[in-house]
Amino acid sequence: MRQVFVLNNAYECVSQTSLARALMLVEAGKAEVTKYGPGVVTSARHVFRVPRIIRIFQYVKAYGRLLRYSNKGVWERDDYTCQYCCKKIEFRTDASADHVIPRSQGGRETYENMVTACMACNRRKGNQTPQQAGMRLARRPFKPSMSKRMAHVAREVKQLLTEEWEMISR
Ligand SMILES: [Zn+2]
Repeated sequence: MRQVFVLNNAYECVSQTSLARALMLVEAGKAEVTKYGPGVVTSARHVFRVPRIIRIFQYVKAYGRLLRYSNKGVWERDDYTCQYCCKKIEFRTDASADHVIPRSQGGRETYENMVTACMACNRRKGNQTPQQAGMRLARRPFKPSMSKRMAHVAREVKQLLTEEWEMISR
């Protein structure tokens, strides 16, 4: 499901959230919609326009939540490039996140153990370590820096919000 960007009351991007949670925050009067996307969602009783960006009325310290692990964070860190065959993944929906040390061997879902893999490499590697599969990693996975992660998010938000953003930065 589509993610919704969340701004704090100072118009800083603080996180992304699910559509369901975004609608809940708006319904509860805790946030307003800053920008709508295309389309609507329907529940049993209501039809909602789909928000792309919401702004919560509280001041929330920016960026903290983005530090949490996410597959998207891995793909962005690796620039959507397969860490085994080094091919750029053309369609974002074809990206997968691979456990370097597989879960079955005690590998965890952390930035230090997850890498971007194309479908073919992911299948080939299966439940093995790179060594066991005879595959090599392009580089050792690492925790992305906050500023890099924010730069990605900020760029996306900026695209969506150009007018408002210009107004704020003036
Ligand atoms: Zn690959």
